Amino acid sequence: MSRFIVSPKASSWVEVPQGSHFPIQNLPLCIFAHANADEPVLGTRIGDKLIDLGALMDLELLSGPEDEDEAAEFYEFGYLDPRVFRQVRKGLYDILRVDNPKLRDDKSAKKEVFVDLADADVLLPAEVRAFVDFYSGIHHASNVGRMFRPDQPPLLPNYRHLPIGYNGRASSLVVDGASIRRPNVQTKGPNDELPSFGPTRELDFELELGFFVGMGTNMGEAIPIGDCEELISGVVLVNDWSARDTQRWEYQPLGPFLAKSFATSVSPYLVSLDALEPFRVNGMPQEPAVLPHLRAPKASHYDIELEVSIQSPSMKQPQVICRSNAKNLYWSFVQQLAHQSSNGTPLETGDLYATGTISGEAEGTFGSMLELTWRGSKPIVLSETGEERTFLEDGDVVTMTGWAQGEGYRVGLGTVSGRVEPAS
Ligand code: MN
Repeated sequence: MSRFIVSPKASSWVEVPQGSHFPIQNLPLCIFAHANADEPVLGTRIGDKLIDLGALMDLELLSGPEDEDEAAEFYEFGYLDPRVFRQVRKGLYDILRVDNPKLRDDKSAKKEVFVDLADADVLLPAEVRAFVDFYSGIHHASNVGRMFRPDQPPLLPNYRHLPIGYNGRASSLVVDGASIRRPNVQTKGPNDELPSFGPTRELDFELELGFFVGMGTNMGEAIPIGDCEELISGVVLVNDWSARDTQRWEYQPLGPFLAKSFATSVSPYLVSLDALEPFRVNGMPQEPAVLPHLRAPKASHYDIELEVSIQSPSMKQPQVICRSNAKNLYWSFVQQLAHQSSNGTPLETGDLYATGTISGEAEGTFGSMLELTWRGSKPIVLSETGEERTFLEDGDVVTMTGWAQGEGYRVGLGTVSGRVEPAS
């Protein structure tokens, strides 16, 4: 496998605003709906423009599937195959590079292929068949341990030996911008009272990354960790909304269930590992050494800056409440995937794996309200209005963003945002 990396010096004839997450070095895939198309189309984004890949192919400005069967497969799930994604990115780079006049100087072709962001609804980048959420942020896991098991070591004995995870719910994945209804849940206080049912009082977010699987595997086939990267289509931001009050009541002994399954928000741009390749870094040392089947043969983490902001209905501007980095993950994407596959369960194209909450070590770098407010004991002050938050209130908008910083450019993941609506 040889990765396709666009030079940091490359530029496009398409205008890309300073600091944009989507310069010619990124070229993610996305699915978007717009007025001139009957069905959502496969596209990419550069700067603030979307490009309809089917239209580019019709104009023979990008090579695509040769016949109807190939086309059906390509648009259903074939585009997720990282080898196909790589070919598409190569073609896109070629047609968009600053010195290629073919599309640049063809006004009518440009009208066919470009769609303004404002005129489109960007959707989930794939139809997700299965969703798994890991727990690979070691500082998050340690913080939760300190809060809920103060008399024990912060990490349970298994933590450094395998990536902890649970099977989440694909049917409630929603895209950036979707509002999130506060769920009704069962909770129980600390004493002998009976449980009650009603709107969660501890609605929280979790700052996570996710990756899509772009190629399935057969039942019984365990993928060696050295081959796992070749199955990964791309990376997104994930907000794993959580209802903490029901979570601590329901999770024993099988793990989270309804505390997580009411909604999970996902950013719409699938950013390839090729685009992130310049930002590959070593993770933190893993001690004790992990078993060979989970040992990544090379650096498998990424230096991706992460931010969370909150805006209450009375605020004019969002306030950043968390700054973290993907380097805070103990277990990398490939370690998560190798673990998932190690018992021979088949992976399916379109599977989504989320990392778990990515908290840093210091205050202000925690990726959930639970940690930021230390279980509600240290409220966050929203400085613009003086309001305080322990958990999320109705009308609050939570926005996550993430980007890798190159020299003079950024490869970004865009944003994933959601407003909390009152319970029904
Ligand atoms: Mn989570």
